Amino acid sequence: MTHDAHQKVKASHLTRNAYLYIRQSTLRQVLENTESTQRQYALRQNAVSLGWQLDRIIVIDTDLGQSGASAADREGFQRLVTEVSLGRAGIVLGLEVSRLARNSMDWHRLLEICALSDTLILDEDGVYDPAHFNDRLLLGLKGTMSEAELHVLRARLQGGIRNKARRGELFIRPPMGFIYTAEGKIEIDPDQQVQQSVRLLFETFRRTGSAMATVKHFAEQELQFPRRVHTGPNKGDVIWAGLEHSRVLRILHNPRYAGAFVYGRTHTRKTVEGDWIIRHVPREEWEVLIRQAHAGYIDWDEYEQNLSRLHANCQAYGADRRQSPPREGPALLQGLLMCGRCGKRMTVRYHSRHGRLVPDYLCQREGIEHGEPICQHIPGAGIDEKIGDLLVEALTPVTIDVALAVQQELQSRLDEADRLRQQQVERARYEAELARRRYLRVDPDNRLVADSLEAEWNGKLRLLTEAQEACERQCTQDRKLIDDQQRAAILALSTTFPGLWRDPTTPDREKKRMIRLLLEDVTLLRDDRLNLHVRFKGGAHRSIQLPLPQCSWEQRQTSPEVVATIDRLLDHHPYPEIAAKLNEQGLQSGEGKPFTARIVARLQRSYRLTPRYDRLRKAGMLTLEEIAKILGVHPQQARVWNRHGLIRGHAYNGKNDCLYEHPGENPPRKAQGIKLSARVAARALAAQSTKEVQYEA
Ligand SMILES: [Zn+2]
Repeated sequence: MTHDAHQKVKASHLTRNAYLYIRQSTLRQVLENTESTQRQYALRQNAVSLGWQLDRIIVIDTDLGQSGASAADREGFQRLVTEVSLGRAGIVLGLEVSRLARNSMDWHRLLEICALSDTLILDEDGVYDPAHFNDRLLLGLKGTMSEAELHVLRARLQGGIRNKARRGELFIRPPMGFIYTAEGKIEIDPDQQVQQSVRLLFETFRRTGSAMATVKHFAEQELQFPRRVHTGPNKGDVIWAGLEHSRVLRILHNPRYAGAFVYGRTHTRKTVEGDWIIRHVPREEWEVLIRQAHAGYIDWDEYEQNLSRLHANCQAYGADRRQSPPREGPALLQGLLMCGRCGKRMTVRYHSRHGRLVPDYLCQREGIEHGEPICQHIPGAGIDEKIGDLLVEALTPVTIDVALAVQQELQSRLDEADRLRQQQVERARYEAELARRRYLRVDPDNRLVADSLEAEWNGKLRLLTEAQEACERQCTQDRKLIDDQQRAAILALSTTFPGLWRDPTTPDREKKRMIRLLLEDVTLLRDDRLNLHVRFKGGAHRSIQLPLPQCSWEQRQTSPEVVATIDRLLDHHPYPEIAAKLNEQGLQSGEGKPFTARIVARLQRSYRLTPRYDRLRKAGMLTLEEIAKILGVHPQQARVWNRHGLIRGHAYNGKNDCLYEHPGENPPRKAQGIKLSARVAARALAAQSTKEVQYEA
C-alpha cells in the first residue's frame, strides 16, 4: 500500500464500516475458479493494513453465481448501494471494477453516491477517492473498460454462434420427433411411437384444418403426445401426456418439421426489471433459413399452407383476449370477470341482435387447451345492466366515505395552520411581556425613557390583541368555508354519477374506466341461477343472484295467449283475416313484428293446431270435386259460381283454396244465356221468398 493510499484514508472513514463485495459470474466459476474467490476474500487484509479493525469489515457475498451485467437481480450489490448511500460505508473493497459492475450505468451511479457520502473505493491497484477528479476519471475509465471487455467477450461468442448457424451446423435443441445422431446430424426420431404421434398430428390437421379439432381428436381417441423433459435430473427423458392446443400451434409453426434449419426466429431483450421479453420475428427478418437441411415430417409447401390456414382460423383465439385495457366494445365487464368454476379469467364474445352488439361472457381457455367443452358460457347483457344498477345504488355511500376521508385530511391541515397562528399569538405575548419588563426596570424619574418604553409596551399589547383576534377569526372562518364546500362536493359527486352513467352519449370505454375505478373484479357462477360476486375496490363485496337469462329461442317465442287466440279464430277465419284481427288487437309475433298470413300459417303448423281444412271438413264442408259432382258441373265452373256467390265457399289456406257449403235442396243449375249477375240476384230473391213462404206456413 502506497503512502498516497494512507493519505486518502482519514479518521472519518475509519469510524465507518468497510464493505468487501465478492462475486463470481456463474456457479461453475464459484466451484472451479476458487483461486479468484480466495483472492477476493484476501482483500480483507488490505483493509486491515489501512487501519480498519477486522470486525468492522463486512463481507457481502450473496451474489456468488450472479452475472455483473445488470444490478437488477443482484441482491448483494443493491445492499451495498444502500449502505453506501446511508453513509455507513467508509470504504468499498472489490478485486476489480468488473466485480462491482459490468454496466456503466450501475457503476457511475455507485461512484456518484460514493462521492456524495465521502466513501473510498479500493481495488487491487490502490485506493481511490471518488470525490477527487483524477480518481473519478480513472474509475470511470476502468468501468468503461470492464463494460467493453464484456462486449468483446459476448461479440466473440455471438460471432461464433452466427457463423455456425449460417452453415446450418449450430446445435439447437431439436423439437419432439427429431434427434441428433452421434455424428451431430439431425434425423427423424427412430422411436416408432413418437414418430407415429407426430405424423398423426400433421395428418389430423391436414384432414380437419384446425388446431382445435386436432386436440379434440387426440382427446376423443384418448391418445397421448410425447414431450421431452428439458431440465432437472430426468433431463432428456420422454414423457407422455395429453395434447394441448398451444403445443399443436407450436409444432405447426415450427419450420423444422418441414426439414428446414432456422436461426433467429425470436429476439430476446432484457427489461429494466430484469425480465426477459421474447419477441417473434417476421419471416423476412429471420437470420438463417436453410430449406431441406434435413428430413422432415411435411414439405415446405404444406408448412406454408398450414400457417395460412391457422392465420385464417385465428380470429377466435388470440392475444387480444387476455386481460386488457378498456376497449370500445359494449361489454362493460371486459377484463374484470373471473370464472366461479375454475378461477380463470373469462373472455368476451359479441354477437349481433337486432343490429346491436350483445356480449357473451365465456370461460374457454381450459376447454381450448384440452379439446373439451368450454367451462361456462353466459349471456352478458343482463349482467351488465345489473352491475350498472348496483354501482349507481352503491356509489352514494362510497362517495360519502371518500369525502369523509378527504375531510379528515383537510382537518389535520387546518390543525396545523391553527398551531402556527397560536405560535404567532405566543410570540406577540412574549414581546409584550418583554416590553413590560423593560418598562418596569427603568427609573420612573427618567421620564424620557420611561415614556417611550411605555409607548412601546402599549404598542406590543395592541399587536397581541390583534393577533389573538385574527387567530380566532381565521379559525372559525376557515372551518365554516371548508364545510360548505365539502357538502357541495359530496352532493355533486353522488348526483352526477347516475346521470353520467345513464347518459347514452357516454362512450362505453369511459364507462368501463369508471367501473374499473370502483370494482376489483366480478366472479360469475352459473348453476340453476346466475351467481354474481362483486368485489369493490377497498374490500367491500356484494353477492347478487339473477335468474338464468333466456336463450335466443325463448326470447323469440310467441306468447301462449296469442297461440290460443289463433286456435280460436281458426274455426271461422282464414289466415289473412286472422293476421288482420291479431294486428287490430295490437298483438305482435315473437320477434316483435306485425302478423302476416304466412306467420299465422307457420304458427298453426309448429304448434300443431288443428288445420282449418280439418275443422271445415268436420263441419260438413265439401271439396271442390264433391260439390261439382252434386251440381253436375265441371269443378272450374263451380269455382266461378263460388266467386260470384251462387254457392258459398270458405278459404282454408292463404291461397284461396276453398271448401264449400252444401248447396241445399235447391242447388243452382246450369242456365246458358243468362248473365251470372242476374242469376245471383234471382237466387237471392228466391231464397227470400222461400223464407217468406215458410213463415206463412
Ligand atoms: Zn371456468
